[in-house]
Amino acid sequence: MKNFRFYKFCIVTLILYTLMGVKLMAGNAHVHGHATMNVVLDSQNLVIYMSLTAHDVIGFEHLANNQQEKNVIDSAVAYLEATEDWLVLEKGDCHKQNVEVSNPFQSKKTDTDEMSINHPNFEVNINYLCQAEDEISEFSVLLNKRFKEIQNIEVQWLAHERQGLINLSDENHQVRFE
Ligand SMILES: [Zn+2]
Repeated sequence: MKNFRFYKFCIVTLILYTLMGVKLMAGNAHVHGHATMNVVLDSQNLVIYMSLTAHDVIGFEHLANNQQEKNVIDSAVAYLEATEDWLVLEKGDCHKQNVEVSNPFQSKKTDTDEMSINHPNFEVNINYLCQAEDEISEFSVLLNKRFKEIQNIEVQWLAHERQGLINLSDENHQVRFE
């Protein structure tokens, strides 16, 4: 029995590492209209990572040229940070511990040529602590209500020792761990 538990632990760890590898790959992908999300529920920790093209979030992919463009970026970052407005988790008694939005235009680099060559992505990392993690069976992602350019979100998830892949669209906002 002890051996079996150890074996199970190894499998879960292996899957976690695989998913982390996928996360790195997903972070590099840049297709307009297409966002990626990775979800790992590990014991009470729910970790969600997203990558979104700047095109889909703010409508342009260069450093802000004027105050209006700066405002567009600030407002988009604020919206992404307010995860309760677009990520609906009803069960599991989850509490947000941390949210980190990485804004590609915030880097110290001011070389606009370099920025225009590399299509930039916004990245979002969210950590929840869930008191009743066994009860989490689904959650909804409502990002495309605000960011109309997002056509689909590819979600890879690992939870309850299972894993899955689902494509969210205008018609389907729900990720189900099944
Ligand atoms: Zn682009």
